[in-house]
Amino acid sequence: MSRILLELRDLPNGTSTRSLSEDVESLDLHRDEYVFFSPVQVDLEINKSEQDIAITGVVTVPVQAECARCLRLFADEVKAGLEVRYFRTPGDPPTDPDSAGDALYHVRYDEPRLDLTGEIRQALLVSLPIRVLCDSGCRGLCPTCGADLNESDCSCSRKQGHPAWSALEKLKDGHESGQAVEE
Ligand SMILES: [Zn+2]
Ligand SMILES: [Zn+2]
Repeated sequence: MSRILLELRDLPNGTSTRSLSEDVESLDLHRDEYVFFSPVQVDLEINKSEQDIAITGVVTVPVQAECARCLRLFADEVKAGLEVRYFRTPGDPPTDPDSAGDALYHVRYDEPRLDLTGEIRQALLVSLPIRVLCDSGCRGLCPTCGADLNESDCSCSRKQGHPAWSALEKLKDGHESGQAVEE
């Protein structure tokens, strides 16, 4: 699997910008509500000094998303902010197990490139909403007849309300119609 790399050899001291366009496969993203498309666009502002390399950026991925309420598929974009800082060291990063976490954020002076794959993946994952909606005002599907209430009201739409009540109404409706058949 390919990696998202920032070349360091030609990176000047001070502030500079870099744009990377990568294959989304390299991020190994999986979510039921999303199909992720290439390219992943990574726009970085880098500040390099003798002590460290500070990186801020924006990661953008085109997606096809599925609305949790109306189940409609729609084109969207996932955007995530990236902020990471690498301390430059003359030798290998510390191997003390207590500082194993810190070791991720050390880079040798002569290192030719930084692998940003893990950082970018993490930034995207935490930016994904828990509940994907086509619109914050999406009215969803009628729990009784399945009509898309964004498109038209159905005759049972008066029963819309809190999802828990809708579920109760649905149970009640099922019971009533069951009785109706028996009669
Ligand atoms: Zn929707
Ligand atoms: Zn309905």
